Amino acid sequence: MIETINSQFKEIVSSMPGGVNLNLCYACGACTAVCPVSRIAEEFNPRKIIRMVLLGLKDEVLSGHEIWLCYQCHACMTRCPQDVRFTEIIKALRRLAVAEGYATQEFADKVEDIDAFSKILRKELVKGLYDGDLDESKAAMLERIKDV
Ligand code: SF4
Ligand code: SF4
Repeated sequence: MIETINSQFKEIVSSMPGGVNLNLCYACGACTAVCPVSRIAEEFNPRKIIRMVLLGLKDEVLSGHEIWLCYQCHACMTRCPQDVRFTEIIKALRRLAVAEGYATQEFADKVEDIDAFSKILRKELVKGLYDGDLDESKAAMLERIKDV
């Protein structure tokens, strides 16, 4: 399928809160290099997502699952030499995806629930490890890390 180019896409994203420096990206890849999600999910590449936005690949960006993989750690923002603020751009892309029907609000809410759950899970794993009473399922989760 040939992707339709939407020449307004980058203007729309850069006019949204946090998107003002989108056009300053010079594709250095520092954001991708530091991103913890890129390390475990090869399809998630902040540099590539920005390129796709700049190229007007609106349908491909907004319909993909990749924009929902970021967990808002802000590491990419601290490394970007151009202050592109990718974390904010992801928020803008998610808002657009919901506003334009590429994803439902219910889905966006569930992603937030997953983010909150992952923090609680981390707390429980650390506490269980510290206390020496990790149950079997949690210990199995930790074992999986060795395969990543
Ligand atoms: S670090 Fe900044 S300038 Fe470099 S690719 Fe990422 S967003 Fe673009
Ligand atoms: S904020 Fe998102 S894109 Fe940026 S480093 Fe963290 S997980 Fe990766």
